[in-house]
Amino acid sequence: MELSTIGVIGAGQMGAGIAQVSLTSGFSVVMMDISDDLVKKGRDRIASGLKKLEEKGKIESGEAEWLTNQMKLATTVAEMVGVDFCIEAATENERLKLDLFANLDKVCKPDVILATNTSSIPITRIAAATKRPGKVIGMHFMNPVPLMQLVEIIRGLATDEQTFETTTGLAKKMGKTTIVSQDAPGFIVNRILMPMLNEAVFALSEGLGTPDDIDNGMKLGTNHPMGPLALADLIGLDTCLAIMEVLHKGLGDSKYRPCPLLRKYVDAGWFGKKTGRGFYRYDKT
Ligand code: NAD
Repeated sequence: MELSTIGVIGAGQMGAGIAQVSLTSGFSVVMMDISDDLVKKGRDRIASGLKKLEEKGKIESGEAEWLTNQMKLATTVAEMVGVDFCIEAATENERLKLDLFANLDKVCKPDVILATNTSSIPITRIAAATKRPGKVIGMHFMNPVPLMQLVEIIRGLATDEQTFETTTGLAKKMGKTTIVSQDAPGFIVNRILMPMLNEAVFALSEGLGTPDDIDNGMKLGTNHPMGPLALADLIGLDTCLAIMEVLHKGLGDSKYRPCPLLRKYVDAGWFGKKTGRGFYRYDKT
């Protein structure tokens, strides 16, 4: 099937990024979140991202406004009825994703691929919540989506070849480079990245250094473009904690236990950049 309309579930930092890249890659977009306010906030984030592209001359003058306005905003899964390919980027919570996929399965046409941008939850389990497990796949974009080159593709146990080929083709049409991971907790990128970020939080909680010392240590000492605490703040501390919990539960090894300080920050509602406070302070976006 020729893909023309992409459905995006969740209008947070990842959903908005995926919707933006879909628009600039020539697709129509329907973007959904749970309230008008949230979906409009996502649209505003896209509008400002597109404006920056326009200022840099990467898209034509006037295109930012045109692309933003042609996007359809939705607050119910039922409005995904006409999409040709659906990418879920809602909060990292297994129960929530299982319910969403069961509903998407009822609403979307039978040949529509249902992809999830989950950072860590097994694709096979998400697929089992639907009656089309062959058409469910992991399509894991990196943050910020418009800037980051990689999409990690994860096949569930039942994912069929056609679904894999179509999804890889779509990622390439979006200008991305793909890698393929087996379906195991955290896949490739977060299996390696998250324990390092969690360890940086342990280093902070044990008083090894200040946030700046820890981040500068890794930036200047190991050539990372961002320090681990700043990166955790960018990803979202709620998301980091959810991923560590999946790794800990799924792999059963105590080395993946989330740092209690990470849990405390999440309990306080300090989720990082998106809430204005994490290991650093930010202007609230
Ligand atoms: P976010 O908190 O910025 O956004 C999540 C959005 O999902 C919120 O706007 C929330 O209202 C919405 N949502 C919650 N329940 C919903 C529902 N039932 N239907 C529709 N929308 C719903 O989080 P994010 O950083 O955008 O992460 C989204 C997904 O992408 C998660 O699965 C996360 O693990 C994954 N991911 C995140 C990153 C990252 O760096 N933050 C990177 C790759 C993948």
